[in-house]
Amino acid sequence: MSTRTTLITGIGSLVTNDPGHGTGPLGLLTDAAVVIDGGTVAWVGPAAQAPAADERFEAGGRALLPGFVDSHAHLVFAGDRTAEFNARMSGQAYSAGGIRTTVAATRAASDAELEANLAGFVREALRQGTTTIECKSGYGLTVEDEARALRIAARHTPETTYLGAHVVAPEYADDPAGYVDLVTGEMLDACAPHARWVDVFCEQGAFDGDQARAVLTAGIEKGLTPRVHANQLTYGPGVQLAVELGAASADHCTHLTDEDVAALAGSGTVATLLPGAEFSTRADYPSGRRLLDAGAVVALSTDCNPGSSFTSSMAFCIAVAVREMGMTPDEAVWAATLGGAHALRRSDVGTVTVGARADLLLLEAPSHVHLAYRPGVPLTAAVWRAGVREA
Ligand SMILES: [Zn+2]
Repeated sequence: MSTRTTLITGIGSLVTNDPGHGTGPLGLLTDAAVVIDGGTVAWVGPAAQAPAADERFEAGGRALLPGFVDSHAHLVFAGDRTAEFNARMSGQAYSAGGIRTTVAATRAASDAELEANLAGFVREALRQGTTTIECKSGYGLTVEDEARALRIAARHTPETTYLGAHVVAPEYADDPAGYVDLVTGEMLDACAPHARWVDVFCEQGAFDGDQARAVLTAGIEKGLTPRVHANQLTYGPGVQLAVELGAASADHCTHLTDEDVAALAGSGTVATLLPGAEFSTRADYPSGRRLLDAGAVVALSTDCNPGSSFTSSMAFCIAVAVREMGMTPDEAVWAATLGGAHALRRSDVGTVTVGARADLLLLEAPSHVHLAYRPGVPLTAAVWRAGVREA
C-alpha cells in the first residue's frame, strides 16, 4: 500500500532522542530533515541529503522535537475547584480529601458531558504539542462510575489507568477496608477490560502501604501493569512498593529518603515528577537533580487535574523543572518526551527515529532550550500526530 510522504526540511535543530543519531543524549542534529510516510518516520538526516517526497514543509530554521508524552493526567471529571485553589493561595493547606469535591460533580455528570470535557483537554494538550497522554479514572469511586470513566477515556487514548483507589469513597468513610475489597473485587472486574494500568494514591489520608499493595497486586492478577502515586505529601512506602512490584512508574517522588532514591536508580521504575502539583499547592518541589545524579530515569508530566495541578502544559513543566528542580533544559526536554515514553513502556513514541510514530512538535523558536528560556510563551508552530497535521 502506498502512502503519501511529507518532507519536513530546513529544521534548524532536531531533537531525535537517539544519541547514535546526533550530539548528546538528545541526539541533536542541525540543518536536518525528516520524512514522514503515512503515520511513521521514514527518514532522518541532514537536509542536504534528504530524499524527495510528495509534499514539502519548510521549517525555516526552527526546532523540531518529538511530541510530548504526558504519562500522568486525570481528565475524566466534571466541576470546578477555583474556590478551593483560591482559598489555598490565601493560606489553606492542601489535603487529599479535596478529591471528593470532584467526585460529587463527576457522578452527577452525563456521559456526554464527561466525554466533551475529556476531548477538550486532549485537544488542548495536543495544540501544545502533547501527542501521547495517559488518563486515569478516580473521580467516580463506584463500580459504575469508575467503569464508565475508563470506557470514555479508552475512546481517546490507549493509556488508560484504573485509579479506583484515588481516595476512599465517601460511602466507605467508616469502612476503608470494605472499600479496598470493592476496589480489588467487583470494581476491578468492571474496570480491567477498559484499562492498561492500575494505580493507587499511597499517601496519608488516602491508602497506606498494605492497602496499596492489595490494590496493585489484585490489578496485576487481572493483567494490569502497576504505577503508583507515591511520596507526594509525605515520606512513605509508595516508592519502595512501586519498585518491589515492578511498577512502570512511581509518580510525584517529592519526599524521598536516600533508600528511595537508590531503589529507583536500581530499578526499571521511572521516577515521574509532576511540578504542576507543587506549583499549584505552593509546596516544595522534588529534586530532579538528586534522582538523575543517582542514575534514576526521570519523566516529567502535568498531573493535569482540577484540584492540585490544572495545567495541560508540558512546556510549563519543563520550565519549572529547569528553574526549580535542578534539571538542565536538555534533561527536562528528554524527561518530557522519551522519559514519558519509558514511563508508559512505549518504544514507538518519544523519539524522532526511523520507524517511530510520526509525532512531531515544531517550535516557533530555533532551539528546544526556548521551552525553558521563554516560560509561558506559546511556542507551538505545528504538531503532527501519527503523521497527521493537528495544529
Ligand atoms: Zn495524579
